[in-house]
Amino acid sequence: MRRLIAVLALIVITTSASYSQVKTVAEYTQQVQALTGRADLKAANDYLDRNHDAILREWIAITEINAPSGHEQQRAKYIESLLRKYKLDDVHYDSAGNLIAVRKGTGGGPVIVFDAHMDTVFQPGLEIKATIRDGKVYAPGIGDDTRNVEALLVTIRALNQAKVKTKGDLVFVFTVEEETTFKGVKAYVDANKGKIDQYIALDGGYEGFTYAGIGINWYRHHFIGPGGHTRSRTPPYSATLPLARAIERIYQLTVPTNPSSNLNIGMLGGSEVVNAKASDAWFTVDLRSTSNEVISDLEKQIKTILDEEAARVGMTVKTDMISASPAASIPGHRESYLVRMAEAVHRVAGFEPPITNAGSNNSSAALLAGISSISTGAGPCDGSHSLAENCEIEPFYKGIKKTMLLEVALAGVE
Ligand SMILES: [Zn+2]
Repeated sequence: MRRLIAVLALIVITTSASYSQVKTVAEYTQQVQALTGRADLKAANDYLDRNHDAILREWIAITEINAPSGHEQQRAKYIESLLRKYKLDDVHYDSAGNLIAVRKGTGGGPVIVFDAHMDTVFQPGLEIKATIRDGKVYAPGIGDDTRNVEALLVTIRALNQAKVKTKGDLVFVFTVEEETTFKGVKAYVDANKGKIDQYIALDGGYEGFTYAGIGINWYRHHFIGPGGHTRSRTPPYSATLPLARAIERIYQLTVPTNPSSNLNIGMLGGSEVVNAKASDAWFTVDLRSTSNEVISDLEKQIKTILDEEAARVGMTVKTDMISASPAASIPGHRESYLVRMAEAVHRVAGFEPPITNAGSNNSSAALLAGISSISTGAGPCDGSHSLAENCEIEPFYKGIKKTMLLEVALAGVE
């Protein structure tokens, strides 16, 4: 027991000590500003400026290899073939299928992970052909998340061309199955816990970043009754009656805006035919909040409504959990080194960054494992998860420069 107390005291001291070492955003801004004056970083930016057309072509080539979640291999092979040309210290796949590339530092620095996910939401076999008009490039998956895959590849080439030597290691992880189960990031974080100092998920985003993940729970609630023919004696009723009453009441619940929370009933169903009372009427609930307490409180209130409405008509309730992922946050993370440094980098790169706590991407898995993590992205895009997805072309180059500056600022240079 005493031993435990001693250990706890040590943890408290270490934590407060590490927080007191965090400088202000203004101080980090000065530091980052100095970085941008270095000849090697200028050379890296120049390389990027000279290669706009090649970047656009490569971005499109990767996008046109569709990679539905779980079927990323073909796209991964193409990315791997590019990485092999860069003379990195290590390029390999892990057991989950993530493609990992390591650019070793000179030593004595942190281990910084940058990820982008390879998978798309589009069905296997979809023919993808990008088109360009009015300064935008259109193709399913061009933004989510191929823009960030391409951004990482460009930064590696630019850093190499300009011979930028970082102190810390930069680890580039091209993950699988972000859009479905987070299988890729979970496996990576699991295998590398304790070896990662900061984790940056590039997904969506451009001007700002997120430092915490929103919790998302999906439910399918069923009312189960006896059913019967339209002309059978009522009660018993169709199970659609308690369903309708319950939905009406659930929409009257107070859903807080602070902490940011959402509730949606998007799908419902009942009998298969017109002339039958439903014996099983169901609806879905999509419940989200940056606070796990809000989620569990709303979950309880919904359960009470379901039970009351079922009891009113002598039926029962069955609930299937479709999926659950908790809100991911680290106490004090808003004022952490990573978040302040990221703010400084965004400011120096010319952004007035919105900083929010409602991310929903690979960053959550890192945060849940206790790793300091943010999520941002390299370009403004629109219509993600739709066939009309598109990205602005010119701002992408600025976004890549921001990404590279973030890599160098976090890994440190001699
Ligand atoms: Zn994504």
